[in-house]
Amino acid sequence: MSEPRTALVTGASRGIGAAIALGLARRGYDVALNDIARQEEALNDVADEIRALGRRAETFHADVSVKAEVDSMVAQALSAFGRIDAVVNNAGILIAGEVDGLPEAHWDAVMDVNAKGAFMVIQALLPSMKARGYGRIVNIASIGGKHGAPAQAHYSASKAAVMGFSRVLAQEVGSLGITVNCVCPGIILTDMGRVNLDDPHVRAAWSAKTALARIGDPEDVVGPVAFFASDDSAFVTGQTLNVDGGIVFS
Ligand code: NAP
Repeated sequence: MSEPRTALVTGASRGIGAAIALGLARRGYDVALNDIARQEEALNDVADEIRALGRRAETFHADVSVKAEVDSMVAQALSAFGRIDAVVNNAGILIAGEVDGLPEAHWDAVMDVNAKGAFMVIQALLPSMKARGYGRIVNIASIGGKHGAPAQAHYSASKAAVMGFSRVLAQEVGSLGITVNCVCPGIILTDMGRVNLDDPHVRAAWSAKTALARIGDPEDVVGPVAFFASDDSAFVTGQTLNVDGGIVFS
């Protein structure tokens, strides 16, 4: 492809999403940046950093759990960039709570953002990817969807849903030149990661459980995502890759 590649990254104002957006820009992508409206200032800062790298960045606010907002965001991004080569479904939330007593609203919110959000962004993008016969879909799941931890059953279920959905979608769209893969971060130091990591003892325990003897930084997730977003992974689809420093070995 001679023109710059374009990527849409959701939840891109901070944490892993911001690192992915900047990492793709450093690799030559123009980037459509999404986050929820309350993150406007932070998202603009990421866009400015990308422009300083000499790449194009545009911001599109949408709550990925609201279909009308997703459809509008995807239509605006396609109109602005002409096409989206790769989408990284990164937006996600974690609301801790044990199953016994978990409010139904917390189950619904986590499933709606983490699982349904990815589904709706992909559904809005598929017609344009199918028409071009090209697409790279990268879904950010979690080792929590394989392994899990107490007080995160609904989070684990949402990430397992993303992986199952991705395996089937890969079979539906593979013959059309579209790949679908998942990255499963482990324990990564972001605002969400701090839910697990604020207590120094918990932090030390996670480091000790990790083969590489450390917790991760958002930048640790970038290379694997860039691989799935690129043509280096042209013959890889329906896969999940743990990016966890060695916690889960399957
Ligand atoms: P983060 O620091 O909390 O950032 C997530 C971003 O997504 C925030 O800017 C957030 O905005 C945004 N967002 C939340 N709900 C949204 C919605 N409905 N629509 C659009 N944007 C929304 O989280 P992170 O740690 O970078 O996590 C990024 C992804 O990696 C998530 O899918 C997460 O599940 C996954 N992950 C993280 C870890 C970890 O240890 N950090 C491990 C495994 C997987 P608000 O803050 O305003 O809600």
